Amino acid sequence: MTTKPMILAVDDEPTALAAIERDVEHEYGADFQIVCATSGSEALAMLKQLKLRNEAVALLLIDQRMPHMTGVELLEQAVELYPDAKSVLLTVPADGDVPIFTIRPAKPDYYLRKPWDSPEENLYPILKDLLADWQVTYRSPSEGLRVIGHRWASNTYRVRDLLARNQVRYEWLDLDTSEEARRLLAALGSERLALPVLLFPDGTWLADPTPIEAAEHFGLRTQAQLPFYDLIIVGAGPAGLGAAVYGASEGLRTLLIEREAPGGQAGMSSKIENYLGFPAGLSGAELTRRALLQAARFGTELLLPHEVNGISVEGSARLVHLVDGATLRCHTVLLATGVSYRTLDVPGSERLNGAGRYARSVTLLVHGPSLDESMSQYLIDQITASPAINVLTSTRVVEVKGKTNLEAITITNTETFETQVLPTTALFVFIGAMPQTGWLAGLVERDEHGYILSGLDMLHDGHRPAGWTLDRDPFPLETSVPGVFVAGDTRLHSMKRVASAVGEGAMSVGLVHAYLRGL
Ligand SMILES: Cc1cc2nc3c(=O)[nH]c(=O)nc-3n(C[C@H](O)[C@H](O)[C@H](O)COP(=O)(O)OP(=O)(O)OC[C@H]3O[C@@H](n4cnc5c(N)ncnc54)[C@H](O)[C@@H]3O)c2cc1C
Repeated sequence: MTTKPMILAVDDEPTALAAIERDVEHEYGADFQIVCATSGSEALAMLKQLKLRNEAVALLLIDQRMPHMTGVELLEQAVELYPDAKSVLLTVPADGDVPIFTIRPAKPDYYLRKPWDSPEENLYPILKDLLADWQVTYRSPSEGLRVIGHRWASNTYRVRDLLARNQVRYEWLDLDTSEEARRLLAALGSERLALPVLLFPDGTWLADPTPIEAAEHFGLRTQAQLPFYDLIIVGAGPAGLGAAVYGASEGLRTLLIEREAPGGQAGMSSKIENYLGFPAGLSGAELTRRALLQAARFGTELLLPHEVNGISVEGSARLVHLVDGATLRCHTVLLATGVSYRTLDVPGSERLNGAGRYARSVTLLVHGPSLDESMSQYLIDQITASPAINVLTSTRVVEVKGKTNLEAITITNTETFETQVLPTTALFVFIGAMPQTGWLAGLVERDEHGYILSGLDMLHDGHRPAGWTLDRDPFPLETSVPGVFVAGDTRLHSMKRVASAVGEGAMSVGLVHAYLRGL
């Protein structure tokens, strides 16, 4: 967006247009940008582009007598795009004294006879008043990305989640409530575009983009820059970020690949209270922001949003394969893929996933007989103290109901077998998490739940893992493939804490150095 609001002058007569432009520029050029069009259709095309670029238009100066589209006809369409812009219709004596617009829905704020002999007397006082009126109600538009969609639609939610978790600022326009959203879609030429629509400050836009398409537009790096890396880290949670900071700071050519957004599980935490050095706690988003800055400052390259779906060995090189078909090469790999939320496997749940709302009161459904088994005491105390939270123990969700968004759930008490339907607009499913390491099957050793084995965990009766060719034992954090390491929640027997994940990430870099020395 430019910094100055616009004044648009429209006249099919080039000499008259030049005179209007000269006079307006002379008085208002310092505060406004003057743009000109020689026909109604050219003016409309211009206004649509300005709208898409989120430019402010303060005033329309429109000649009434134009071929193909009269000034009044243009004004009717222009106010659809810029309802708050002030307008002046320029007439000539032949148009007569009777207003020609009384029967029209769109009326100009002023009628002005041209030519005006003295702009100081006949033009500037009028424009001054109109522009002052406009200024009072004018709100500076957002300078960044705008997202248009339906609040409860799951693909809109996914895009907004991607933007928020990648700390991309945007203006949200809900099609259900925002006139501006409707106007913008009309300016794009279709109100039937697949939603959400992302509108960028340069006027370009994307309808229902894939995460990579969206990321490319908001400036994230989606292509690796080097042909070969010392260390490729898969997953940008605390473990991956920890490894990135230490790897890059110690001179390793380090690439960090993340499929969604940096921060992992920790990035979603509203407050982490037990991380060393932050006695008042800090949000996962803030921790992530700081870690990313630190990693970038040391030269880590971040590739996002890309999912890794394979790793293979080619001599001393390790090959990392991405879902989009690209292959990246390196000496060592760190698997820092954490764990992912388990989803609720009941009828209706998949269809309504992501169509959520904020809540005034919360009912906590707990499968076990109490919270004690699975929750820290300080959290139990906070829940008990909150009047907005109601806890139902020994409870299981058996069905999720709703057409376009959630309307109710059916629950069963596992002790009494009593069933009831609870009306609700949102269901937050938090039923544990599992590693998603199926794509590593046949490459590294994993336990029956998918957790990755490392170091001494792989020595069975003192024997090294099958296929192990080196004449040393695996390093701690090293998997059954030499040069492929694992850190954080995805590692068998890990602590499942932010600090331990960061610590393991940092530790893995020391082991990478030891491995590289042996090459
Ligand atoms: C809501 C919540 C609150 C928490 N609060 C606390 C707390 O207060 N204190 C505390 O100590 N711990 C807390 N934890 C636990 C802590 O967040 C985790 O232990 C920690 O995040 C684990 O870090 P990680 O890097 O191993 O894995 P994760 O944080 O799970 O990160 C793994 C990353 O890898 C990415 N990834 C996975 N597979 C692929 C792939 N194939 N390709 C590319 N990328 C991939 C994921 O998208 C993810 O970003 C909390 C967890 C949650 C969910």
